[in-house]
Amino acid sequence: MATDIFETRESQVRSYCMNWPATFAKASGPYQWTEDGTRYLDFFSGAGALNYGHNHPELRDLVVDYLANDGVTHSMDMKTPAKRRFLETFERVILEPRKMDYKVMFPGPTGTNTVEAALKLARKVTGRQHILSFTNAFHGMTLGALSVTGNSMKRRGAGIPLTNSSKIPYDDYFDGDMPDFLWLEKILEDSGSGVDKPAAVIVETVQGEGGLNAARMDWLKSLADLLRRHKILLIVDDVQAGCGRTGRFFSFEEAGLYPDIVCVSKSISGYGLAMALTLFKPELDVWEGGEHNGTFRGNNLAFITAARALELFWSDDSFQNQLGERIKELRDGLEKIAEHVPGASIRGRGFLTGIHFPNPDTAGKTAAEAYKRNLLVETSGPQDEVLKLMPALNIESEDLQKGLAIVEESVLAATGNLGEPSRLRAPR
Ligand code: PMP
Repeated sequence: MATDIFETRESQVRSYCMNWPATFAKASGPYQWTEDGTRYLDFFSGAGALNYGHNHPELRDLVVDYLANDGVTHSMDMKTPAKRRFLETFERVILEPRKMDYKVMFPGPTGTNTVEAALKLARKVTGRQHILSFTNAFHGMTLGALSVTGNSMKRRGAGIPLTNSSKIPYDDYFDGDMPDFLWLEKILEDSGSGVDKPAAVIVETVQGEGGLNAARMDWLKSLADLLRRHKILLIVDDVQAGCGRTGRFFSFEEAGLYPDIVCVSKSISGYGLAMALTLFKPELDVWEGGEHNGTFRGNNLAFITAARALELFWSDDSFQNQLGERIKELRDGLEKIAEHVPGASIRGRGFLTGIHFPNPDTAGKTAAEAYKRNLLVETSGPQDEVLKLMPALNIESEDLQKGLAIVEESVLAATGNLGEPSRLRAPR
């Protein structure tokens, strides 16, 4: 029954609150509390916007002080000390240690905004229109980003033809039956292929929305080599897999890539504040002043939390090393849970990992059972067939284990096997 203002007034375009109807009033670390004080463990983390949990106390205190001192909040793209501090910190903590030389653009505050900027820039730099993207890719909901997205329901929403882009098979799309890049290599070399030479290829190293498909490092390297040979720009969309989600700050570090353009958003502010970056090699900085203008180019609250988060978590290896241990813990736990369901397998990489179920309904049913047990966990994939776990990266082991125990019980409930002995607690 439609009883509250959300049901009566807000558009039916809503999605997350349809599965999780509680009203959340308070949040701290990996937990959220409803208005009536019920506690939920959050293994969703704002779809990756809350990599360091909710309301990190040190970041929160910075925001409070900044506001109390009348710091500039909105500044278009004008200079502020907060922006200077962010740029200096990003250069010192992220770019210099990785020997990366990227110009930083603030493209508007969301993931889809940085994708739009990347596509526009790639076209301007190369003078070509065509962009290649991958099967099951997700890059956002504005027209350019939708044109490189795979999901047919989301694409239909555009209401107009989505042009100037083609899809190519992601890693393992043919279950290993086809050599990597067979088609791409051939069409690029064949002047009769009828495929216009693309400006760029845009890729996620792990397809967050598309079913947690994780590309192999060798596949990513071969892709980068192929594009370099053909003078096609490589755009990595690190909106979801970046900012530590897969174990290192950028998700492509393990593959040793140096993409031409990188899209960053979600957790870059460290605090769930809207912020995005488009990074590109200096020689690609061919914009004219104001050519990609906008009102929200300087979220100063996000600048100050982002700068501090980079210092807190990325100025040395200690956080990354601790994260590596947690990632192993998560994967071990999921592997044991998957043993309950014949044919289930582990998908993803880092803290962007989940379980693929042979019966697509199982993931959704498991997420619903988890919600009944006060755990927020979502699904992913073209048929929502993957249970997707995204805990905060700084979660304590005890909370991680608590969540895994709920996931296990929820899988058993969803498959009608409640009462089966736990594999998590079983002796090795
Ligand atoms: N790119 C990727 C890889 C994403 O996962 C998302 C969001 N899930 C986006 C782009 C779009 O980000 P936003 O929702 O902030 O527009």
